[in-house]
Amino acid sequence: MSSLAVYNSLSRRKEPFEPLKPGRVSMYVCGITAYNYFHVGNARAFVAFDVIRRYLKWRGYDVHYVQNFTDIDDKILKRATEEGVPMQEIAERYITAYFEDADRLNIMRADEYPRATHSLDGIQRLIHELEQGGYAYPAGGDVYYAVRQFPEYGKLSGRKLEDMQAGASGRVDVEEEAECKKDPFDFALWKSAKPGEPAWESPWGPGRPGWHIECSAMVRDTLGETIDIHAGGVDLQFPHHENEIAQSEAVTGKPLARYWLHNGFINIDGEKMSKSLGNFRTARDLLASYDPMAFRLFVCQAQYRKPVDFTQEGLDAALSGWRTLESALLFGSRFSKQLDLSENALEADLDSEAVSRFREAMDDDFNTSIALSVLFELAKELNRQGNLLIHQGKTDASTDVLGRQWRTLIDLAKALGLEVRSTSEIPTGEISATAGPATAGIAGRPLSNSEIESLIGQRAAARKARNFAEADRIRQELAAQGVLLTDQPDGTTLWHWQDS
Ligand SMILES: [Zn+2]
Repeated sequence: MSSLAVYNSLSRRKEPFEPLKPGRVSMYVCGITAYNYFHVGNARAFVAFDVIRRYLKWRGYDVHYVQNFTDIDDKILKRATEEGVPMQEIAERYITAYFEDADRLNIMRADEYPRATHSLDGIQRLIHELEQGGYAYPAGGDVYYAVRQFPEYGKLSGRKLEDMQAGASGRVDVEEEAECKKDPFDFALWKSAKPGEPAWESPWGPGRPGWHIECSAMVRDTLGETIDIHAGGVDLQFPHHENEIAQSEAVTGKPLARYWLHNGFINIDGEKMSKSLGNFRTARDLLASYDPMAFRLFVCQAQYRKPVDFTQEGLDAALSGWRTLESALLFGSRFSKQLDLSENALEADLDSEAVSRFREAMDDDFNTSIALSVLFELAKELNRQGNLLIHQGKTDASTDVLGRQWRTLIDLAKALGLEVRSTSEIPTGEISATAGPATAGIAGRPLSNSEIESLIGQRAAARKARNFAEADRIRQELAAQGVLLTDQPDGTTLWHWQDS
């Protein structure tokens, strides 16, 4: 029987998986910053780690799964200002939307969802400890992490500070507060509040935490000083996860995580998805007209670390693949009159050959791509037998064999979260059939005036940045919602409802 091997981004190789406590796995996945619907790249990450979690459970581990919500952030604040509402209102809106979309994708609920605003004690404690240890310094109401005090900085991403300075001035994110920092690579742990911004009291004055420190504190609060798996998209490896390591390990002197898992990007039609390219696609927008299970299948067709090309052909192929699986998953109920495959038989034994091939594939760093081939073999055979039943009135395999294949398919598909859900099980949050990407409005209810003004503001900003593709996208998005724009010679934009 195979044993589980996992690619660890930290060591850059596959390692045998040995959790800290035998039989138990603590797992932390970086969640959304709640200022928008999550995009298909995020959806891939959440599905990929949900599959890993389900597989660990299938393999008998007791998995404790934590995913955070960042509900304090510059992007949330910006959106709140644009809409003229409190930051909390924006965060609540997109946290609710997160659950609607994640439920649709059959992503299991985490055991805990810590939020930055609920973790201020742990955050301030960690900053204080970093200060005590000489890893942090206050400057102008902010507090910064002194990157050069942590000799192991760069160990996760394999970057060296010297190299970054030498070659890549354009790529390094120099924060606005640069003038307060002692070193351009230092990053903010605590940001002083500008007038009118939400702020929390602290020993360094009123302000709010930086993004990286939130995760370090929430991991420690919920799972302890060393966890088994820390996961996120490959875009989080640097600087976010590198900074988490620097913060947590400087204080505890212990490894933050035994295994670091990073999933690959989604490219859209061969290009990296980004807002500036105008090919940004939310999961909500996709799922308005696409089967969530087909999307799960689409994600599982690639091993989770590999990049995925998001194309219409790929989506069409995944949808037809899902129809094949779906029909086979329903085999027992479709032919319950002809074959006696009773419900309690679901407890009976499985096809051990198929199970061991599935397990071998998944044990090799969660190779869902090969694992799926086992599912498709079972599904195609069941569907063939189904056709024989329909056309010839009999199968050419015994009921026992068919029952075993059917149960095996259900069991293995469930380990990947591929399940046929009756309509009543599928969450029915409102979803727009016509909404474009990043749309504030939801079908059945027109956009509010402030949502329209906000989108017009975003479009003006895009035009100012000469990002005409984005500007045009927003215009089309509004048109799809029945809002027409008229640009005035003085640069302002008027709008009206299509039929008024
Ligand atoms: Zn994080």
